[in-house]
Amino acid sequence: TVRIGVLALQGDFSEHLAMVAELGWHGVPVKEAADLVGLDGLVLPGGESTTQCLLLEASGLRCPITEELRDGLPALGTCAGLIMLSRTVIGGREDQWSFGVLDVAVRRNGFGRQVRSFEANLVVEGLVDVMRAVFIRAPVITEVGDKVEVLASVPYRFPDGTQVQVPVVVAEGSLVASSFHPELAGDPRLHELAFGRSVGRSIADIVSTLDEREE
Ligand code: GLN
Repeated sequence: TVRIGVLALQGDFSEHLAMVAELGWHGVPVKEAADLVGLDGLVLPGGESTTQCLLLEASGLRCPITEELRDGLPALGTCAGLIMLSRTVIGGREDQWSFGVLDVAVRRNGFGRQVRSFEANLVVEGLVDVMRAVFIRAPVITEVGDKVEVLASVPYRFPDGTQVQVPVVVAEGSLVASSFHPELAGDPRLHELAFGRSVGRSIADIVSTLDEREE
């Protein structure tokens, strides 16, 4: 059976474990380095990235997870989990660090005070039905590297009324990340995208398979 670890130090890891179970996989709560042995994938849940930084160091998980991610362990990061995967974090505490494996820059709590939390129906590349996305003090992806695929975006409005599209689901190599919480809407399709077909395959490959299946 497929074994998917869920980082279980802080945040909404129980909802992710429920998603993993719903997909028929074995979910492993990850609290220490020994829990990483034999995993086919890893979920980095939402919560508070500042607290997660501290707990990852205290638990001794920072180095072994960095190594696993660099070795290509498939991973899904949601909200704070996206922040933890990112190359650059803007608006963090002085001692904030990240795994730095996903070539994006994020701004913490970047959707601004008045819309700190909101919901949206998203069109996600490769999926037919829209995805209900719950954004809670979500990070904004402000830069994406050449190898990063943007699978969904939302409009971002500046105070002067100008509008741009910002990515909210991205993929690169063995990584998928979202700035919202798919698990809170009970939608397992990003988990499926990250792990179901991704073990050893590129995201482009997986997205084309989903397209075929749904036509
Ligand atoms: N604002 C949080 C952070 O910076 C992320 C919020 C979330 O995961 N819902 O870590």
